[in-house]
Amino acid sequence: MQPADARFHSLFDTTPDLVIIMDAEGLVVAANPSVKRILGYDPGELVGAPLSAIMPERYRTAHHTGFKRYLSTGSRKLDWTSIQLPGLAADGREVPLSISFGEFEEGGRRFFTGIIRDVSVEKARSDTLTFLSQVGPALASSGLEYQATLRKLAELAVPLLADWSAVDIVGDDGKLSRLAVAHADPAKVAFATEIEARYPSDPDAKFGVPQVVRSGKSEVVADIPEDLLRGVAKDAHHLELILSLGLRSYIAVPIRAHGRTYGALTLVQADSGRRFSEEDLPLMEELGRRAGLAVHDAGLYRDALETNQLLEEQATELEQQTEEAQSLAEEMEAQAEELMTTVDELRRKTEEAAAANEAKSAFLASMSHELRTPLNAIAGYVELLSLGLRGPITDDQRSDLERIRHSQRHLLGLINDVLNFAKVEAGRLEYRVAKMALDIVLKDCESMVLPQIHASRISYTHEECGEPIFVSADRDRVHQIILNLLGNAMKFTPEGGSISAACDHTDTVGRVHIRDTGIGIESDKLETIFEPFVQVDRSLSKPGQGAGLGLAISRSLARAMGGDIVAESEPGVGSTFILTLPRWDDDVRQ
Ligand code: ADP
Repeated sequence: MQPADARFHSLFDTTPDLVIIMDAEGLVVAANPSVKRILGYDPGELVGAPLSAIMPERYRTAHHTGFKRYLSTGSRKLDWTSIQLPGLAADGREVPLSISFGEFEEGGRRFFTGIIRDVSVEKARSDTLTFLSQVGPALASSGLEYQATLRKLAELAVPLLADWSAVDIVGDDGKLSRLAVAHADPAKVAFATEIEARYPSDPDAKFGVPQVVRSGKSEVVADIPEDLLRGVAKDAHHLELILSLGLRSYIAVPIRAHGRTYGALTLVQADSGRRFSEEDLPLMEELGRRAGLAVHDAGLYRDALETNQLLEEQATELEQQTEEAQSLAEEMEAQAEELMTTVDELRRKTEEAAAANEAKSAFLASMSHELRTPLNAIAGYVELLSLGLRGPITDDQRSDLERIRHSQRHLLGLINDVLNFAKVEAGRLEYRVAKMALDIVLKDCESMVLPQIHASRISYTHEECGEPIFVSADRDRVHQIILNLLGNAMKFTPEGGSISAACDHTDTVGRVHIRDTGIGIESDKLETIFEPFVQVDRSLSKPGQGAGLGLAISRSLARAMGGDIVAESEPGVGSTFILTLPRWDDDVRQ
């Protein structure tokens, strides 16, 4: 049947929409040429067939029932004037259609018209927008979890946008890896994953994901030519597997943001028969851009997290260091306080000691002075009696007077020692330090004591010192020390023993050695004998001599001049006393 009117005839033939006229049985009586373009059928092919023939199987029963109900009751369950329904194309594809129905009567018969519009592009666009509105917020707020978000993106894309979807990501090593593959049927996903595992795709391929990632440019293939699949296949079996997937059309867009490509999103149409075209690009690229931003932001987020963690660690470390420094400061403060207390105490004790020492020295000085006056009187009266000025004296009385004189001198010596010691201790002595040859001082001293040594039947040797050794010291004090050492040697060496004197030097000091073959000193006493009033064994010393002050005075004098005295001894064999004095240095003292 053709519309009778020429005007309608022209409209019928030229309208880009598909126009179908059906009779009251619901059978097609006419279809315009657009049916070929939209669904792939020849118009004549449909005549006599029910309209449901161009509907997917699942809609047919509902369509029949609804149409019959309308014919008998006039009621429409759906708004039949305009419905959205997929059409079934001749090649089995489903094409989204928008159908508007009308009816008219002609020659007493009822006819129905269907104006059918291909809305694939609009549908695809609205699907994509719906999709974007679903995944957009997730992509924008994925944080570190961008990988999970991209997997979700791949899942949501099927079957809304495509039959297959895949997300490939460039790893830190620069290599591409598949993050996700999705299909409505999980079995197909497993199958595709297995194919990929057995025949990994070529990373250097000149098309598809590798090329999109390399160039940052999208690819659209509306109809995948079989040659392309043959080119991809590694062998016949591989080709068979690929063909079994029924891939028809694909679009691959870069996942890209801020000039950097992070991977690619691939959408493939297969079983549904849908096709991609250049028109799909803007929306898909937008999707790729949002996915790229998600990856980019994840990087920023990770960097921020790392920086934050680093800062936190540094802050903790700083806090620890501050605490340590604080406790150290507190400890130091405590120690400083302790030190101050100790210093105060020491100062107080030193002052006390100095005061006590002063008092002691003053006491000793005045005592000595007080004692010397009566002693001098004793000496005077002994002299008076000895001279017979009080009358004649007998020989016995003379020898008694001699003993008194001897004791008086001894006592005077002791008092002088104490006075001397008091002065040394009080630091009141003055030292006239000068250059002096040790050998000469030693010889001076020898001449003073030799008669006594010989009288005690002790032999004496003086070992020549060779080159003169010059020291810097006070001659009188050195005399006093050496005389004390020689006197002790004499005191503690029995008749028949020997005393020897020698001198030598090191780089810094000149030394005088006084050796004797006397009674010797126990090793544990070698130091204590230098303390005041110490005498190892009073009974062993010759009676009536010494107060135990000689060595104490001598060491103090030696030390005051920058030298020292030490003793070495073997009990029963003898002792050696070594006096050291700083060597005279011509460069320092002129
Ligand atoms: P003093 O000779 O008046 O007792 P010193 O201070 O000179 O006092 O000597 C202290 C003590 O050291 C002596 O009493 C003696 O026990 C011991 N001593 C000193 N020189 C010798 C020595 N050459 N041999 C053995 N003992 C000695």
